Amino acid sequence: MDLKRTNGVHYIAGQFKNGDKILHGFTTRHEGVSRAPYNSLNLGTNTNDQKYNTDGNRSVFMNAFDMQLESLLTLKQVHGSDILVIDEFNEEIAHFLTLEGDAIVTNQPNIVIGVTVADCVPILFADTKKGVIGVVHAGWKGTALLLTTKMIDTFVSVFGSNISDIQIKIGPAIDKCCYEVSDIVKDAFKKFPVAWDSISEQLEEEGKWKLSLKEANRLLLIKHGVLEENIEVSNLCTCCTKELFFSYRRDVETGRQLGFISLKK
Ligand SMILES: [Zn+2]
Repeated sequence: MDLKRTNGVHYIAGQFKNGDKILHGFTTRHEGVSRAPYNSLNLGTNTNDQKYNTDGNRSVFMNAFDMQLESLLTLKQVHGSDILVIDEFNEEIAHFLTLEGDAIVTNQPNIVIGVTVADCVPILFADTKKGVIGVVHAGWKGTALLLTTKMIDTFVSVFGSNISDIQIKIGPAIDKCCYEVSDIVKDAFKKFPVAWDSISEQLEEEGKWKLSLKEANRLLLIKHGVLEENIEVSNLCTCCTKELFFSYRRDVETGRQLGFISLKK
């Protein structure tokens, strides 16, 4: 993945095969209007930042891609496993903004679906043959709840996708280097289909581990039938990379970046 810039907005993006109609990426903290500690492109609606700042930032982001603020859809994220499915035209999508959920999937063009994060893993999905896109917010809870494979199952059951056509981008998130967890998290992964040892590292201190949520989701998706070559993973850690990203672990009171994807008509 590379750092890109469109009309002043900086974001990390990869490449979707046959993806001419797909706009996607993971924003950085640059070029917004919010002041410290939310400086500056805070796109989250769940922080103590002023609403006029986050609305302004969301407008700046959408305008950079010649789109209106009203076409940006994020949900009230709750670390659950609910997926919002939008499979028909909606005159306006604003009424979805207050819905609770941690994933969105749609075949509708010209809306930007996104998840806001500050360490959790933003994951983008696309089937260019069927014209379907999806986005997932995966913290440790969403990962342990198998939200990513639930998304794959939704592509297949609702939109008729073949698993081998689904391409995935796993975005910048806190990595093993900075993500120390306790037994509570390890216990949540008891029934996880991928071995704990392959996604974590035990620390000397009793009951402490370093966990890679990116690797957990990558291996989970492969085990579920997604082709390894269809998964691209950002090597950037949000906690280490202060100049680019917000990080909850590092700063606690901070902004949110956006993992986003959209189908152009
Ligand atoms: Zn790190």
